[in-house]
Amino acid sequence: MKSPWGRAFHRGHGILDGFGPRAGAPALDAAAPDGFAIRRRLRAMLSLLAGGTIALLALLVVLRPQVAHARTLHLSDFCYAVTALSTDDPPGADAYDCAGPPEEYNTRSLWLRLKRTGAEDADAEAVLIIGNTRFERMEVRFVGVTGNVARYAVAVGDFSEHWRPGSKIAFSDHALNAPLESIVLRVDRLSDVQFLRMNITHDDEAALQFAALAATIGAGLTLLLIGALYNAGLAVAMRSGSAAWQGAWAACVLVWGLIWSQMILAFVPGLAGRTSAQIATFLACLAIFLATASVVSAIREARVPRTLRRITAGAGALIGLSGVPLALMRTGPLHLLADIIGILVLGVLVLCAACIVVAWRRGHAPAISLGRAWAVPMLALGSVQVFDTQGMFWGGGSQVIVLYAAAWQTLWLAISTTAKYAHLRNERDRARSAEAIAYRMARQDALTGLGNRLHFIEAAEAMFGAGAGVSPVALLLIDVDRFKAINDGFGHDVGDEVLRCIADTLRRTSPAGFPVARMGGEEFVILTHGLAGSPLTAFAERVRTAVAECRHDALGDGSRPITVSIGVAETRGQTAYDTLYRMADQALYAAKEAGRNRVHIAAVPNSPATARPLAPEPDTARPASRIGAPTP
Ligand code: GH3
Ligand code: MG
Ligand code: MG
Repeated sequence: MKSPWGRAFHRGHGILDGFGPRAGAPALDAAAPDGFAIRRRLRAMLSLLAGGTIALLALLVVLRPQVAHARTLHLSDFCYAVTALSTDDPPGADAYDCAGPPEEYNTRSLWLRLKRTGAEDADAEAVLIIGNTRFERMEVRFVGVTGNVARYAVAVGDFSEHWRPGSKIAFSDHALNAPLESIVLRVDRLSDVQFLRMNITHDDEAALQFAALAATIGAGLTLLLIGALYNAGLAVAMRSGSAAWQGAWAACVLVWGLIWSQMILAFVPGLAGRTSAQIATFLACLAIFLATASVVSAIREARVPRTLRRITAGAGALIGLSGVPLALMRTGPLHLLADIIGILVLGVLVLCAACIVVAWRRGHAPAISLGRAWAVPMLALGSVQVFDTQGMFWGGGSQVIVLYAAAWQTLWLAISTTAKYAHLRNERDRARSAEAIAYRMARQDALTGLGNRLHFIEAAEAMFGAGAGVSPVALLLIDVDRFKAINDGFGHDVGDEVLRCIADTLRRTSPAGFPVARMGGEEFVILTHGLAGSPLTAFAERVRTAVAECRHDALGDGSRPITVSIGVAETRGQTAYDTLYRMADQALYAAKEAGRNRVHIAAVPNSPATARPLAPEPDTARPASRIGAPTP
């Protein structure tokens, strides 16, 4: 009994079908208000992808009968003879045995003579299509009714123009120039006659079949390449171990697809034949290991029993390791081993599914995505096991299904990981803007919109740090005159309005680059640079008059103007900030003392003070009694 697993394995595929490790796949359900739109869009994309894949597969199935008029040749259609490798001429008709399976052909030449070609093959150019398998040399003789012979040969490393996409070798009788009478096939050192798959079809149908097969495989490989590259990029960007396993898995399936389909022969013709079959077998085993590793690493965080995880990983590793001897074997019980590996693969599938289900039931969010992503490949694998898919997809059979299942799964992972990534980016952007708002609010005076004390100290630090001693710096301390009376007479709201108006005036009067801040209460400050002596005094005067000229509608027409007193301290040397502040404070006190609504310039200190760190507490640096003290 040959299980489908065995057949699938030898041809270097099946094992890949079910393994859709959703390494690190995100939980699309995770709720976050702003992520909804993104997730809805991505979910729509996933649905589109799923729908598109199903529609494409359905289309392929529907289209298939139009080109698949190929007649499958069974072993029972042939008579056999086995000769020494050195024999060149075909054996005589009586040397052929038409009854049973041939024996002892592994190290010799196996001759197969088609019992009859069938009337349908006689009137058109026939093409014999043989699935690639392990052999050393193959020769096809088309014998015409006139007795002439068209003879073609391929050998390991040299399929010349006979290779076709989908792991096929094609021979056409078009050089015969006569109706076909019989076909004789010679295969040297064939590993297993059971793996020999043959079809006979017409020339034009063969051309259509291979064009369709090439397009199907090419599209599948392209999707896989996109998915593999995208996943590799994500693995690097997100530094995710399970995404890296997934990327490795996708890359392995991609290389397997290139080699299995023989597309690789367009670039490396020397890989033709047994070599590519062996590499494909090895890659199929490796892919199983990578897929298992990807699943196990994705559920590492889940509370899945360690024994279950270890058995799963161990079984995956066993299959991966068995790829080496299986790839190297030339003869021997390949078919039996392929069947055993097939059963092992089924076991690994069940173990992986068990891991996912346990993780899922224990509330591990990525396991849900993992399970979802597995659904399609599992379905594909299941149908490959239940139905005979060998003749489907223009002879591409189960391998084409595997290729598309892998591509679909890889793209699913790419999209769902992107959804997670987009969600995280969204969260990060929101956190950043919240941080920016908090930063701004911490430095802004809520009433006037000017900078506050913290903002001012930071600006002063920057100015003192950058241009200490280079450019003259001056501090203008501005205090509203008799402001308490305004509050008392007109109410606090009007007082606020007046403060806002004064703040606007200060902002407008100060050139860009001069930090303006409200230090608290009815006290403001301006830090200037590049101004000294009379230009500085003129600037302070401009500020004072601008405030005095302000119209305060809320106070009514007959009220006195609102004025400010300004204390100015300037420095050219390395006067420390707190010294400068104290000087300005004293100057302000002097201005108040002198009758308010005036500018007082502090005397320049005799000896420059040593530079000291900034960020003083102005309230402690300045005696509270001086500024805002009641006037006599
Ligand atoms: P001086 O000319 O000596 O500076 O007299 P002044 O009345 O301006 O000084 P004083 O320090 O006695 O009064 C300041 C007042 O400023 C007292 C306080 O109620 C008021 N004030 C402080 N912050 C605010 C505020 O945010 N809004 C309003 N409307 N008033 C404020
Ligand atoms: Mg005041
Ligand atoms: Mg005051």
